[in-house]
Amino acid sequence: ALMITDECINCDVCEPECPNDAISPGEEIYVIDPNLCTECVGHYDEPQCQQVCPVDCIPLDPDKRETHDELMEKYHRVTDK
Ligand code: SF4
Ligand code: SF4
Repeated sequence: ALMITDECINCDVCEPECPNDAISPGEEIYVIDPNLCTECVGHYDEPQCQQVCPVDCIPLDPDKRETHDELMEKYHRVTDK
């Protein structure tokens, strides 16, 4: 899963781009639900939120590394496909 760092400027550009509805406004900055983020696997070749974030504050979460197969399983789970 990806994560949003405290450099987030709350611009709301990423939220509508997420195909899994994994992004939401948190208490101070936007947050990604790691149970929903497939790193866009199953939907797109590239993480869509990373593509649009103007301040480049959405890295891979080092504590939530997943293999492509695991991300694909999550995709099937969250999309019911
Ligand atoms: Fe959503 Fe894709 Fe960003 Fe994960 S990488 S939060 S699935 S847009
Ligand atoms: Fe924050 Fe980047 Fe999302 Fe804007 S696009 S809300 S700066 S994470």
